[in-house]
Amino acid sequence: IKCIGVLTSGGDAPGMNAAIRAVTRAAIFNGIRVKGIYKGYRGLIAGDVVEFKTDSVSNIIQRGGTILKTARCDEFKTIEGRKVAYETMTREGINALVVIGGDGSLTGANIFANEYNIPIVGLPGTIDNDLNGTDVTIGYDTALNTIMEAVDKIRDTATSHERLFFIEVMGRNCGYLALNSAIAAGAEAAIIPEISIEKDQLAELIEQGFRKSKNSSMVLVTESEVTGGALKLAERVKNEYPQYDVRVSILGHLQRGGSPSAQDRILASRMGVAAIQAFLEDQRNVMIGIRENEIDYVPFQRAIKKEREISEELLEVLRISSI
Ligand code: ATP
Repeated sequence: IKCIGVLTSGGDAPGMNAAIRAVTRAAIFNGIRVKGIYKGYRGLIAGDVVEFKTDSVSNIIQRGGTILKTARCDEFKTIEGRKVAYETMTREGINALVVIGGDGSLTGANIFANEYNIPIVGLPGTIDNDLNGTDVTIGYDTALNTIMEAVDKIRDTATSHERLFFIEVMGRNCGYLALNSAIAAGAEAAIIPEISIEKDQLAELIEQGFRKSKNSSMVLVTESEVTGGALKLAERVKNEYPQYDVRVSILGHLQRGGSPSAQDRILASRMGVAAIQAFLEDQRNVMIGIRENEIDYVPFQRAIKKEREISEELLEVLRISSI
């Protein structure tokens, strides 16, 4: 491999810049040229490509977002779109790709890699922590801290009145953000997609509230079709439990912003260096994961499988510590 391309795709996440920096510097350290591809797969199709030197990534480790910008690109989901993307790579002399993004981005990478026999290494860049084969994803820790601080602030007003507060956080089909931020902020409960199919989490929560006769409650809710989201839950409370003064706070995009935490910067740096190491070891079509603090190569097929389970131990910790 003489030249790699690096891109960020899908939703942005704090720490993506630290990852771009590490990938760039590790490649150059090993005598490999680097080209930055702007706006994810859209830039690959449009030929929005710039050669990176070591100083192209100076002074970015502390910045949120991604200097390469990111995009969603429906064209890349088509055979024609990917053909144009491949033509860009040939024209630019790019032999391999590092794709930083979530499960959608890695799904696209997997298809593209198989179609054109291109070596691709993925880095899990998403605040959702919804990828298989890695304990954490780049951006997750920062988002968790942001949510925790927001919940702390909401708590001040929630306890001044007797209220039930639903705080909606991101995560899609993954309850880790809601569950761990509930633990970290000392909230009463988390309503998450992994368990709501089996039982009525809201009814259980209200019943517990009565038992504990708590005046105010903070409940973290994953934004997801399965949980219905905070607004729908609040509607149900108004209809079924009118004695509760219910309020909703949807944290939205502020969860994605901000300077990355030390943990995310270190994680992104380790994963970025590991991505280049993977190429040197002739690995391809793997996502860099981290398990028990060790770098791991996770085949794309496994990384994007939707089988991530929630930790029973964490659920228990929240249940016990909120009585
Ligand atoms: P996040 O979940 O953090 O928002 P993501 O990477 O999962 O990030 P998506 O919007 O699902 O975000 O995907 C990003 C891009 O990846 C899409 O816009 C598309 O260009 C590409 N992509 C996703 N799925 C496919 C697919 N099946 N085939 C080809 N490309 C895909």
